[in-house]
Amino acid sequence: MIAEEIHRITAALPAGVRLVAVSKFHPSDAIREAFAAGQRLFGESHAQELQRKHVELADLAAEAIPLEWHFIGHLQTNKVKYIAPYVGLIHSVDSPHLLAEINKQALKAGRKIRCLLQLHVAEEESKFGFTPDEAMDYLDSGVWQQLEGIQLAGVMAMATNTDDTARIRSDFHRARQFFEVARDRFFASTTTATFNELSMGMTDDWHIAVDEGSTLIRIGTQIFGQRQY
Ligand SMILES: *Cc1c(COP(=O)(O)O)cnc(C)c1O
Repeated sequence: MIAEEIHRITAALPAGVRLVAVSKFHPSDAIREAFAAGQRLFGESHAQELQRKHVELADLAAEAIPLEWHFIGHLQTNKVKYIAPYVGLIHSVDSPHLLAEINKQALKAGRKIRCLLQLHVAEEESKFGFTPDEAMDYLDSGVWQQLEGIQLAGVMAMATNTDDTARIRSDFHRARQFFEVARDRFFASTTTATFNELSMGMTDDWHIAVDEGSTLIRIGTQIFGQRQY
């Protein structure tokens, strides 16, 4: 089942779009099964759960093409230290304060951590994420350029939780517009294309997200079934 879904999804992805298998609340054995099917990127949303699985699955990080952990949930500043030594990408940076803490822990670990700014574009009230205006103001401030432990690598967004596909599409479209404007304004002169990820799309809306230019889709339920604990 797990292997079948992974193959079904990856076969449908255009070149340049990668699948993050969201394994939160699923046991390490399910991750092993996905890894055996060729999946390498895994997303978790709780620091301590990720830390436990990182230890349980340490052998997979030593494979020729290793497992890579992405953090996708709300991250409390006091938990950053658990994941900073190994996390590959943090999708869910929702405040300047969090980014500063990630920077501190990255430097402590001797790393540069790739981070996405989480953009709030959905209809629902949410405590988390920058509005497009706040994110633009933050980029304008230039503060992030002093953070040697951080590589700003793009934008993450979630669409409104609705059956209205036009609304979902317009949420993703706004995120994409922000991403492109920010990239062209702040990252055009960097010699390598480092601001290049647009993380959008979950089980119920990833087809629309891919249509709207997503480069990373984050899928849990379709691969692993209902979450178990
Ligand atoms: C849980 C989660 C997902 C996966 O959602 P599914 O609907 O199970 O595919 C994707 N992104 C984030 C931020 C999540 O928390």
